[in-house]
Amino acid sequence: MSKDPIIIVGGGLGGLSAAISLLSQGEKVLLYEKHENLGGKANTKVIGEYRFDTGPSLLTLVKVFEDLFTLCGKNVYDYIPIVPLSPITHYWFSDGTHFTSDTIEKFTPTLTSHLEVTQKEVDSYISYSKKIWDLTHEIFLMKSLHSSSTYFNKKTFLSFMQLLKIDPLRSMHKANSSYFRDNKMVQLLDRYATYNGSDPYQAPATLNNIVYAEHGLGGYGVKNGIYGIVEGMAKLFYELGGVAYTQTKVERITYDNKRNITGIVVNGQEVKSKTVFSDVDTLTLYETLLQDEKAPIAKRYRSLPSSSSALVFYFGVHKEFKELGIHNIFFSDDYKKEFTEIHTLHKIPEDPTIYINITSKITPTDAPVGGENWFVLVNAPPYTGDNFEIEIERTRLTVIKKLSNILKVDLNKYIESDGILTPKMIEEETNSYQGALYGISSNTLMAAFLRHRNQSKRYKGLYHCGGSVHPGGGMPLATLSGMISSELYKKRGF
Ligand SMILES: Cc1cc2nc3c(=O)[nH]c(=O)nc-3n(C[C@H](O)[C@H](O)[C@H](O)COP(=O)(O)OP(=O)(O)OC[C@H]3O[C@@H](n4cnc5c(N)ncnc54)[C@H](O)[C@@H]3O)c2cc1C
Repeated sequence: MSKDPIIIVGGGLGGLSAAISLLSQGEKVLLYEKHENLGGKANTKVIGEYRFDTGPSLLTLVKVFEDLFTLCGKNVYDYIPIVPLSPITHYWFSDGTHFTSDTIEKFTPTLTSHLEVTQKEVDSYISYSKKIWDLTHEIFLMKSLHSSSTYFNKKTFLSFMQLLKIDPLRSMHKANSSYFRDNKMVQLLDRYATYNGSDPYQAPATLNNIVYAEHGLGGYGVKNGIYGIVEGMAKLFYELGGVAYTQTKVERITYDNKRNITGIVVNGQEVKSKTVFSDVDTLTLYETLLQDEKAPIAKRYRSLPSSSSALVFYFGVHKEFKELGIHNIFFSDDYKKEFTEIHTLHKIPEDPTIYINITSKITPTDAPVGGENWFVLVNAPPYTGDNFEIEIERTRLTVIKKLSNILKVDLNKYIESDGILTPKMIEEETNSYQGALYGISSNTLMAAFLRHRNQSKRYKGLYHCGGSVHPGGGMPLATLSGMISSELYKKRGF
């Protein structure tokens, strides 16, 4: 155990998770967050009479949160009102096909009755997805990929012997098309690439394990909104004695000439500590906080493509839509074109797939009586300085027109509160390079190995968590990164 407090820079899910894990080990923790709220991308905002979660909305892999709270001898459900969703998502296709998804036992009959697929095909696909999940999740997600102990055990050895079974050599789309001829089924499965901001036409089919993670292990909601996760984690953090300074931007992370970490600088003053955990996006960390933009890893990160970003409209809608659920997807006609526009042409798609999250379906207080809080998201390219202003206005009109047509209303008449989040705003608000939602893209086979390690090799006493480092972005993985980095600290700490 360290005598000095450990400093955490950034109060996103990764930083909070690292803080809680360290506190559970008996460490003292000081957390610095530049915003007034903890949570980072997972934040909350009120527009008029409507409350919105600002970023993440779909929760999977709840076991990660159970494990984090168990580390402290606590039950996550006493802190965060997580509920399984049934149905999970409402799907709408342009030809009028409409159905809802669920855990696989309930979902299979829906698929066979609405699409040209058989139970045998669905069963075979789910066992394929589960097989990849079983072979990958412990090695690629739960542990450091940069620690030798991860590789020297029987389970890992057996997994590596079965490497081809994780389907790394073809794309998600190619694999999905090999299982199904029905284009809607393939589109539905390809969609899981967006769970880490990648392109199903490029990303390795290994990522088809996400299908099992949602339909095998379940999709979840939080009764008081996704921000309830942050509130529950913050409650535990304070109970364990953590100290957080919000609205306090860290200006520098300091180190001596042997690159031993010595502390941080806030408001021009040095706060000393030999151990700093960074929840800050990797490139921002090297270029701004460490002022070490020539570090090989910083150069590498700059050259790697980012995961996708998002354009979000927050609509307070003064009408209730019984046909919608908490998660709703309105697919585009041409998925290939949509992903090429995002990942290759770097433009907001002309005919985007539209996602609507309505938390007031399970949290009625998020909207006034008779209304709904619509978080409307389209996938967008990472921000590279392009002026998206015209495209943003065009997209707003397209989205409203498409939804009005499908739902057979003039949506404009019902929108009474209006807000927006753009890729540029995500970059500015959370210091995430190019406003990417999930750090570097997972479009290549090697992406998992290219992500930043959780314990620095270059700086003694520096640890890394958050969605831009191993094991990746998304709420459960960012939370895992905090647990992995604190575990590394425990093993090799001062
Ligand atoms: C629109 C959108 C939709 C998403 N949808 C989903 C979803 O449905 N499901 C899902 O699982 N994930 C989703 N995600 C991704 C998920 O939100 C992130 O992967 C996760 O929240 C990232 O956590 P993090 O720990 O990396 O920190 P971040 O959330 O990036 O937080 C980093 C924190 O560090 C702070 N910080 C940065 N620099 C400094 C500094 N110098 N000093 C002090 N503080 C600093 C920032 O203010 C911020 O609070 C979505 C994200 C967005 C934006």
